[in-house]
Formats: sequence, C-alpha cells, structure tokens
Amino acid sequence: MHTKEELISINPLLEKVANLEPTVWINPDRETGEKAWANVEFTIDDIIDAEKRMKRFAPLMVKLFSAVEGVEESKGILESPLVHLENLEKKYKDEKNLKGNLYLKLDSHLPVCGSIKARGGLYEVLVFAETLAKENNLIDDSKDYSQFSDKNFKKLFSKYTVQVASTGNLGISVGVMGAALGFNTIVHMSNDAKEWKKTHLRNKGATVIEYDGEFSSAITQAREISIKDPYSYFVDDENSKTLFKGYSVAALRVKKQLEEMNIKVDENHPIFLYMPCGVGGSSGGVAFGFRKVLGDNVHAFFVETTHIPSFLIGASTKLHSEVSVHDLGIDGITEADGLSVARPSKFSGFTMETLLSGIFTCNDDVLFEHLKKLNELEDIRIEPSSCASIDGAVDLFNYENAKEYLENHNLMDKLDNITHICWATGGNLVPEDVMNEYLSK
Ligand SMILES: *Cc1c(COP(=O)(O)O)cnc(C)c1O
Repeated sequence: MHTKEELISINPLLEKVANLEPTVWINPDRETGEKAWANVEFTIDDIIDAEKRMKRFAPLMVKLFSAVEGVEESKGILESPLVHLENLEKKYKDEKNLKGNLYLKLDSHLPVCGSIKARGGLYEVLVFAETLAKENNLIDDSKDYSQFSDKNFKKLFSKYTVQVASTGNLGISVGVMGAALGFNTIVHMSNDAKEWKKTHLRNKGATVIEYDGEFSSAITQAREISIKDPYSYFVDDENSKTLFKGYSVAALRVKKQLEEMNIKVDENHPIFLYMPCGVGGSSGGVAFGFRKVLGDNVHAFFVETTHIPSFLIGASTKLHSEVSVHDLGIDGITEADGLSVARPSKFSGFTMETLLSGIFTCNDDVLFEHLKKLNELEDIRIEPSSCASIDGAVDLFNYENAKEYLENHNLMDKLDNITHICWATGGNLVPEDVMNEYLSK
C-alpha cells in the first residue's frame, strides 16, 4: 500500500489525477532504435509464432463458427476493418482542433467475440488445447487442425476446466472458445460486469460466477480456486504472456491494411495509436506489436478514464502492479466496464516502459459524446470503453505537454500527415436496448 502523498511526490502530475482532472502523462523514458528493446522480453518471433498458430487453427474456426457472420469469408482468420472516419474527422477538425487523418480499427466487429479479446482470449484457449493435444499425441503441426472438433479431442478436453476472471469481454472470448472445444468453462465476473455479458455467456454454455467486489479482487479469488484443481487452466489477465502475444499479431495485419490503403508510415507520416487501457494486456500487446512491426514512427498512447487511471499511476511511478487507483484515493467507478481495472498488469508496465509515448485520461461523459457522434456521422456503434481511443486523438491537440511532445519529435509541420488509429475495442455484441440506452445518455 502506498499513500497519496508518496505517489504525488514521485510524480507531481498525480495531484491532477487524484483530483479527477482529465490530463495526459508523457512518458519521459520512451526510446527509439535498439535502446527501446534492451529490456523487452518479447520478440518478432513471438508475433510470428502466434500468427502461424492462428493460421493452423483457421480451418477449425471455420468448422466451429461457420454460422457466425464473417468467419467463412475470412477463411477462419478473424480480422477487422480499418476505416477512415471522414465525417467525424471533419466535425472534430471544425469543433475541436483535431489535425491529421482519423481512422478507427473496428475490433468491435471482430467475428465470434465482438471485441479485441478475440485476439487474445480465443488464442490462449487454442494454445492450451494444442498443448494438451500434443501431449496426448493427437496432433502435430503438419496435420489438419479441423480435427480439434473430433470426438477424441472433445473427450480429452471434457476432463479439463478453463477458468478466467473478467469485467466482461475477456470472459466472453474464453467462455465461447472453451465451450466450443468441449472444455468446462468458468467465468468469474466482477461487480461492474454488464448483465447482458453474463447472460450471453450462460447461453453459450459457460458457468458464470458473480463477485461483489471489483476486478482486482475477483481475479485473486478466481486464481486461487483454479490453482486447487489440477485439471483447471487459468487465463490470467494480470500475468498472461500468451494473451499478450495473441494481441500483438494485430500489428502484422494492420501493416498489410495500411499498405493496401496506400497509407505511408515514415518520419514524415507518423502513426499515432490510441488504445483504451484496462489492465494493459490487450492495449500493451497491440502497442508492443506496432512498435516492433511498424517501428519508431509509431507513437503509442493509452487512454483511461479519470476514475480508473491505473496504468497511468503504475507507469508514471514505475510501481506498476504495486499500486492501485485506491492508493491515490480514487473510487474506480466508471461506465467504461472494459477499462474498469484498479491495478495494472504485472509485466505489461515493465514492457511498455520504453515503448509507450504517454497516457491520456478522459471523463466518462465524453465517451458518450463520441459514441453518439460516431453513430450519427458514421453509422458505427461501439461500446463506451472503446470511445476512449477517439478522445485520445482529439486531446493530443489540447494539452501543453502533448504539444511539447510533438515539438520534441519535430512533428509540428507534419500534423496534417498524422494517421491516427483509434482502437474500437468492443461493441458488436451489445444488445440493441442497451445500445439505445447509451445513445440516449
Ligand atoms: C479489454 C478491453 C479493454 C482494455 O484492455 P486491457 O487488456 O484491459 O488493457 C478496453 N476496451 C474493451 C471494450 C475491452 O474489452
């Protein structure tokens, strides 16, 4: 436990953060070139290995989820569009000082899960299934992985339980994949998990256990329950390097999309990436991948809400998972359930120390403003957490220290060339009545 005074003495900006004022923290330790990678344990081989595994499993995805829109067309490689928000861009250029080109990465519309967790949660369950199948001599890399839905595989998997703690979307990805393969699946859900997400999971055959407490305490309890069962596997959002690698594959796919769209990435055409951040797993995995695959002209930012700026507190004090928002006297209550994590991941903070450019915080209110505008002007509907990324792009031009960052990187005369990639982390599965409620806020 750290005190508020102690934290503010390490980083004076935390006074503002404690007062719930929207702000941006610029990371003084961002590095480029070799230096950026000196202390990073993940490599390009990790990304390529994960991509290869996804390809091996692609025929299985088609077999299991052919009824889901988009799976068959994609031949089992789940990917989402990158779209230019021309109308919203114009609106925010007129009204809010935005400069550059505004893009949205629609992981909100990833098939099967409707969130970024399709990259990580599905993947980790597949890794576990592959490990078991190999141990039991049922498969090797040269075989057709659509066999994973055969009876003998199901029989093996039915002896095991896959468990996860989640504020919602990770639970959906693990629960859906686990159940489809024949595992018993238990999803431990914290108090801020939305009711519809629990219902969705139960309908898919997962067991849902509800907790009174917040995510950080739910995951601690869930981990202990899982450890006691030798036939249980725990997908650990605070510690999982497998999840992280799964998310990082996004960078290879976006590189291709940028090429197809003729969008340049170089010194004169930088990418500004905005990731809504909870525990720092999916956000960190994607940001790591971007820096690795697209290089130093990627400026990666996270965005959190003012009531739960956990990664900002951890990263800016370098205390990482040793601190929670409560140490700074913040309540941790937000409508953005995807970001609702009071204590950041153990290793993501360390990994991002030299890779991340900074972290924005925004009010819950502005999430709904972006949500509505996106619906009105672009006919796109995403969940509130996802909208944090759009606020990052807008806020880049609203803070003095962000302007300094642009100056220090010689970008002031290149602002019109910036490609902003805002990550829409979830939304497609939100039921219509819930979405209408969001739209009427
Ligand atoms: C998971 C999630 C996030 C944040 O990801 P972390 O891995 O917790 O950093 C943001 N938005 C949505 C909708 C999510 O599902």
